Amino acid sequence: MAEYGRLTEEIKNELKEIVGGKNFHESPEELVAYAYDASAFRFKPDIILRPVETGQVSRIMKIAYREKIPVVPRGAGTGLTGGSISLKGGIILSMTAMNRILSVEPANLVAVVQPGVVTEDLHRAVSKHGLFYPPDPASLKSCTIGGNAAESAGGPHCLKYGVTRDYILGLEAVLADGTVLRSGAKVMKNVVGYDLTRLLVGSEGTLAIITEITVKLIPMPKSTVTTLAYFGESKSASEAVAAIISKGFLPSTLEFMDETSIRVVEKFTGLGIPSEVKGILLIETDGDTEGAEKSAAEIEGILRDKGAFSVETAEDEKKRDKLWHSRRSIAPALGQAAQFKLDEDVVLPVSLIPEGVSKIKEISEKHGIPVAIFGHAGDGNLHVNLLLQGMEQKHMEAAEAMLKDICGYICSRGGVISGEHGIGFLKIPYISMGLDPAALSMMRRIKNIFDPCEILNPGKMFPPEIKA
Ligand SMILES: Cc1cc2nc3c(=O)[nH]c(=O)nc-3n(C[C@H](O)[C@H](O)[C@H](O)COP(=O)(O)OP(=O)(O)OC[C@H]3O[C@@H](n4cnc5c(N)ncnc54)[C@H](O)[C@@H]3O)c2cc1C
Repeated sequence: MAEYGRLTEEIKNELKEIVGGKNFHESPEELVAYAYDASAFRFKPDIILRPVETGQVSRIMKIAYREKIPVVPRGAGTGLTGGSISLKGGIILSMTAMNRILSVEPANLVAVVQPGVVTEDLHRAVSKHGLFYPPDPASLKSCTIGGNAAESAGGPHCLKYGVTRDYILGLEAVLADGTVLRSGAKVMKNVVGYDLTRLLVGSEGTLAIITEITVKLIPMPKSTVTTLAYFGESKSASEAVAAIISKGFLPSTLEFMDETSIRVVEKFTGLGIPSEVKGILLIETDGDTEGAEKSAAEIEGILRDKGAFSVETAEDEKKRDKLWHSRRSIAPALGQAAQFKLDEDVVLPVSLIPEGVSKIKEISEKHGIPVAIFGHAGDGNLHVNLLLQGMEQKHMEAAEAMLKDICGYICSRGGVISGEHGIGFLKIPYISMGLDPAALSMMRRIKNIFDPCEILNPGKMFPPEIKA
């Protein structure tokens, strides 16, 4: 177990000098505000620093390294696995003040951004040039590109276009000892040495602090058709997912909602979804106008074959937005549906989606904990939300037993326990289930090389028994 140093007044003054008084925070209110992320677990840090440039991050890390002070990098705090919570006190390094889009380069199809840029702001900035940055987590109005890079965030469009990892060409990052490292380049092909960029993406703040990101852009698709299909059973909706993919279609989006998600959304929004609707698919096809429409029409045939009793399509933005309403309302609706919820984001091979939905329902019934299943089913990624009556020990123990069964099932069928939300500290108990022991041990050794004193986001990702 790593031993940590104490943040004395002298060290705090040294740090305050680096960021300035207005970017140094330690009032009780501020410590509470930075004690949580979207997972609802709370641990207070000792101080919060908001650096405005890489040089400051480097100087902060030199001091943290010298004094063995834990440092937790943080974007918008929308993570769902406790990743940006400081389990061991120390410094929260809020990257939100480094929020400039440094360049958008249509000729090179790249943009260079600081980590605190809000994801939607990048989408808007590049769309002015007719360009598209596909990763679109549902939290895109508030989450940051730095947080997306650290989690390799996904989203509805990742079925066709890939996740954040597929769009990061290069990084600037500050290592645990304050060294500034640059990896990758503004080029589309690069096989020079090990791919440190891909290693740092998805490293959840445990290997380095990301201070600049070069992202790849693609031309904006000319046309998009959105299709909303209602089914009388969740099962037939899940079967339609597997059928669409197996027949060679690759929609840009293929989202699934089960019966519980639908009822929760209806209660929250009053949209008027008929009570006989027990499964919903939301599908987008894009490309040139003719191609997008043709694919949508062919997919409609599959949906009807699989039992959809209502299929509605929309091409203009306003109508498409309307069709998205129920899917976009899930997160706030679920927030109101239970005293406490745990969000899992398991992934299965797509052909196993129908089996997976049934099996997870079976596990939910066995443990007596209701579950809402929705998500990016087209790429096999299901968000499984456990709806708990409270956060007391008995509730958490019951949830843990259920999660063990869910993760055990997922891994036994060749799936993985997280497709986008990462491990943080909440999924540590299950990481060993899905990883080859030799791979986990190698990851732990890599962590040790990057962060020998274990000051970067300690207590995350690895079970304590896995030694370097
Ligand atoms: C309503 C809702 C919907 C969501 N939908 C999706 C979705 O569709 N897809 C998806 O993938 N996720 C989703 N998420 C989860 C979350 O938004 C993503 O994980 C997002 O990438 C987190 O970004 P953030 O800026 O909030 O990062 P934070 O939560 O602040 O941090 C996340 C992790 O990144 C690390 N980190 C942050 N910045 C840096 C940096 N500069 N350098 C190194 N490490 C850093 C932190 O230490 C932490 O481990 C959703 C969350 C909510 C609340």
